[in-house]
Amino acid sequence: MGKFSDKVAIVTGAAGGIGASTVEHLVKGGARVLAVDLDEAALTKQFGTDRAEVASLSADVSRESDVQTFVNEAVTRFGRLDILFNNAGIEGQVTPLESYPLDMFERVLAVNVTGVFLGMKYGGPAIRKCGGGVIINTASVAGLQGNANLAAYIASKHAVIGLTRSGALSYGADGVRVNAVCPAPIDTRMMRAIEDGAPGNDPSAVRDAYAERIPLGRYGEPDEVAKLVAFLASDDASFINGSLYTIDGGLTPH
Ligand code: NAD
Repeated sequence: MGKFSDKVAIVTGAAGGIGASTVEHLVKGGARVLAVDLDEAALTKQFGTDRAEVASLSADVSRESDVQTFVNEAVTRFGRLDILFNNAGIEGQVTPLESYPLDMFERVLAVNVTGVFLGMKYGGPAIRKCGGGVIINTASVAGLQGNANLAAYIASKHAVIGLTRSGALSYGADGVRVNAVCPAPIDTRMMRAIEDGAPGNDPSAVRDAYAERIPLGRYGEPDEVAKLVAFLASDDASFINGSLYTIDGGLTPH
């Protein structure tokens, strides 16, 4: 019996680095998973079309009807919902605050904040109906620190922490635990985009500078975050609710 035998999970941002790795950890533990992502082609590339334990659905987490659809789809297809990983996110632009475009600011908040809000709004009651479970939101060290060139992303991840605390108070009495993970730079497409967008023409120097600030001297791997998410999703974390888990190689104690 795996840790997640008979459990059903939704993972958003499932075609990306952290999401895809988490899908595989949950499946390894026996879960059936609905993998949700905006990028349909990437979902198919990542998970194929013929795995009984993983179904894919293309959806935009910032759209209320899409979120209702994927929550319903998990229950219809797999019969229940126990675990929701609200993980989809975008970095926006790397731009000084005074020239940060409003439309990009609003899009980052729509995906990173409204997306998490909607996931908790519809996922919480669906999990409650199945007798309780867990919601995990992907915040970031960007929810704990500032960055002059990433105002929208920083604001959005601070908001994810607020939503996590509110969710824990909203659903705790129903046996639905709500927690957040706060990763430092992790080796995925998102960090490539941030390195490429940083001022200057040397993304590898930007990467080195980020890595140097981390006492362990390197970025994290998606797999390392996925293991933390799998722990929080499991019964081993049965008394953990409303908590933030930094996974940052020692960055935030600075
Ligand atoms: P990623 O870009 O590899 O994955 C993000 C995924 O989200 C992509 O597959 C993308 O298609 C999907 N997505 C974007 N907008 C969406 C939408 N509107 N609806 C549905 N799906 C959408 O990046 P990642 O590093 O795997 O990021 C996953 C999460 O981890 C994000 O919330 C990110 O902010 C957070 N995070 C990442 C890092 C890092 O350094 N990589 C650090 C801290 C937190």
